[in-house]
Amino acid sequence: MRWLAQRAVCPLCGATKEGRTVVCPFCRQKIENFQQHNPLFAGDFRLYRVASYREFRQVHLRFKYGGQTQLAQVMAMLMLQSYLGSLPSAGEKADLIIYVPSTRVRMGQRGYNTAELLARWLGKYMDRPVRALLKRKNGPKQTELDVGKRQKNVQGIFRINQRIHTKCIKFEDQRILLVDDVCTSSATMVEAVRTLANHGYSNVAGLCFLSKR
Ligand SMILES: [Zn+2]
Repeated sequence: MRWLAQRAVCPLCGATKEGRTVVCPFCRQKIENFQQHNPLFAGDFRLYRVASYREFRQVHLRFKYGGQTQLAQVMAMLMLQSYLGSLPSAGEKADLIIYVPSTRVRMGQRGYNTAELLARWLGKYMDRPVRALLKRKNGPKQTELDVGKRQKNVQGIFRINQRIHTKCIKFEDQRILLVDDVCTSSATMVEAVRTLANHGYSNVAGLCFLSKR
């Protein structure tokens, strides 16, 4: 992370920063305030988050729609810090990293899946395998629906990638970390966790960069 610490501007807000920190003191404070409430219990799984969607929405827009994929490196570092800082002990960290998949249509439009980029960096930082265990069907965008419709819309949207599943069976009883960039409701994550549980993966925690609550 040396290049991040050496930069003179905060990669999140663009403010000038000093010293060897990854982000500026203002962003650090906002993140610390939010992280006090980690993890969030959504259904029966734990969700770890870095910061508030309201405060860092612009960062996400630059990352997801502005092509600034290099942000993944710092976002994943902040996710790692948030996750490890909230675990009861470091020995409980995940054995396998997976991510919320994008539909084929949207992958084609954008050329990359933001959740996968974050998962790949987390895999490097944590020295853990990253696998495309979930697949997603095409459907309406979650961001275009209200909360009630979101919950309905997500039912059955995920499938297990059978080819990867055969390679991941050894992880069924181990800790799995499911990565996404933003959790606006937790409906998508809850549905992904449900799909995983149906295939024997029962120990899944979620980690996202931004969350609405
Ligand atoms: Zn900042």
